[in-house]
Amino acid sequence: MVGIKAGHFDRITLVGIGLIGSSVAHMVRQKGLAGHIAVTSRSQESLDTACRLGIADSVTLDQCEAVTGADLVMICSPVSTYGAIMETIAPSLKTGAIVTDVGSVKQKVMLLIEKNIPRNVSWISSHPIAGTEESGPESGFSELFKNKWCILTPSKKSKNKDIKLLKNFWKKLGSVVDVMDAKKHDYVLSITSHMPHLIAYNIANTALTIKKKKDHNIIKYSAGGLRDFTRIAASNPIMWRDIFIQNRENTSEMIDE
Ligand code: NAP
Repeated sequence: MVGIKAGHFDRITLVGIGLIGSSVAHMVRQKGLAGHIAVTSRSQESLDTACRLGIADSVTLDQCEAVTGADLVMICSPVSTYGAIMETIAPSLKTGAIVTDVGSVKQKVMLLIEKNIPRNVSWISSHPIAGTEESGPESGFSELFKNKWCILTPSKKSKNKDIKLLKNFWKKLGSVVDVMDAKKHDYVLSITSHMPHLIAYNIANTALTIKKKKDHNIIKYSAGGLRDFTRIAASNPIMWRDIFIQNRENTSEMIDE
């Protein structure tokens, strides 16, 4: 395939340039994994920041323009935005391109994208299990994925050779790669990631509610335990709202457990 060699792509497009997108861009730059990094996002401000950080070769608010000619398109935005993004970009995807994402939840996303993906485009979902509570393009760093799991979830529209290419790519970003189906992914992640965030949000919210109701500045006396929870609870609430909505069955089951 012209444009794609093992772990290297001529043109990579990142849709969304927050913590995960910018971390991918930093590492792609550092390791020379792409000839061109195209970036599109929701706001001009984030695109300007990407330019200032030197992690984009071209930026545009026009998603179709951004994905045109891309060998690898990586969706790095909250999972609730995927439907509209796919509808917009589908006609502009190049034959032979690979489309992936970095979303934290899989079952609904897999079906949604499978439905919209054009023929001759490979759709393989990715989930780098790596993150911090920070958001936005300035929060990314090249070491984010180092020795962290990245789970690949192939679809009916994944070609084996593309799964291999994507595996290789994530390995070059520093990840340890495993393959899992969407059902197992969402079950496993509900306990390893989603439940800890649910508990953290609830503890932080309870502390704030008590502070308001009883007028006790209890947060001032935070012990290490509450501090750790508030750090996790500082994560992007939109992203986590989407994850809890999309994985509510498994998360509810884990609460019962
Ligand atoms: P983030 O820092 O908040 O960045 C989100 C990015 O998505 C921003 O660049 C934002 O654009 C862009 N965006 C939002 N709506 C968009 C739209 N409609 N079209 C195009 N771009 C849009 O979030 P993140 O932490 O990188 O998370 C991104 C994805 O990674 C999520 O799906 C999440 O589930 C997954 N993930 C996150 C973590 C983590 O710990 N944070 C770990 C693993 C996977 P603007 O900045 O221009 O508004």
